[in-house]
Amino acid sequence: MSRFLSAKYADLIPYVPGEQPRDTQYVKLNTNESPFPPSPKVQLAVEREAKRLNLYCDPECTELKAAAAKLYGVRPEQVLPVNGSDEILYFSFLAFGDEGRLFAFPDISYGFYPVYAAFCRIPKREIPLSPDLSVDYRDYLDLDATILLANPNAPTGTCLPVAQIERIVCANPNRLVMIDEAYIDFGGESCVPLIERYGNLLVFQTFSKSRSLAGARLGFGIGSEALIRDLNTVKYSMNPYNVNRMTQAAGVAAIEDDAYYRANARMIIQTREQTARRLRDLGFTVLPSKANFLFAGSDRIGGEAFYRELKARGVLVRHFTKERIQDFCRITIGTNEQMEILLTHTEAILNGKGC
Ligand code: PMP
Repeated sequence: MSRFLSAKYADLIPYVPGEQPRDTQYVKLNTNESPFPPSPKVQLAVEREAKRLNLYCDPECTELKAAAAKLYGVRPEQVLPVNGSDEILYFSFLAFGDEGRLFAFPDISYGFYPVYAAFCRIPKREIPLSPDLSVDYRDYLDLDATILLANPNAPTGTCLPVAQIERIVCANPNRLVMIDEAYIDFGGESCVPLIERYGNLLVFQTFSKSRSLAGARLGFGIGSEALIRDLNTVKYSMNPYNVNRMTQAAGVAAIEDDAYYRANARMIIQTREQTARRLRDLGFTVLPSKANFLFAGSDRIGGEAFYRELKARGVLVRHFTKERIQDFCRITIGTNEQMEILLTHTEAILNGKGC
């Protein structure tokens, strides 16, 4: 650290993104990207838009907001497009947190939550997951805190039904409940329809996973007009042009080609279920997943050793050193061919065969 760093950041431990290697060609199953390219219509739209990069983009994202509102069944004023859902998380911590207002989230969830809490100096309470590593909605009924839940949760993949989310929202009428639906398109049920009835519910979605746009950085906050106005106050105080011209065009085209992405999500779900069965056959414990990844561990090999052995064989998965989940690895669902490579290497590793 330089001697100029603000004292308030001296102890900050930043989020560590999954590896993005440039050297070797890995089978990359470590950062929950889609294995499928964006729709050809998206590629065309980006090419077209690239010719206008000399001009600032529309800070209101008018066209994109209208398309997203239609997709989510809400009004444009209830949508805020953002630079990846990480940004809506950050905006929300800024808009709705302060030193006296506790944020509560699971002790095992998206690693950015505690980082934003520390960065924004908001006190946090981490609620332990159940022994089976699922979220128990009953832990969130009486907290006196702003609630933040990833549903499906990450890195575990388990998902709460909408009725349980509604119980949490109802039980906390004077508290904001934020539901991060980054992985909702892989078999979970979105709670966006609840927004019309509950002014204390804010939902986050991303185009990084099911819509193959991780590199474009596009996410959405969806909530009451009042909540979106609050978030806009933060956005216009920080970065009015937060979603660039090419990404806005990509987002509109992606929404117009919804059938392409629905078909891809169906394929990923099918591949996920096949892979889970095969891993269980090899003796792995695999949590029930409604996401585009599996969380799996085996008594026959530690999580870190499994990660290292796979990496040595050219397959990247994600391992977390956190207590209670050290024995697991998070495996992104790729194409059938990629999963076949993963399973072949996994079998060889368990049988003690060299690379
Ligand atoms: N929420 C969760 C639960 C995630 O796993 C991720 C992806 N790492 C994000 C939000 C952020 O996704 P993005 O910023 O790419 O939209």
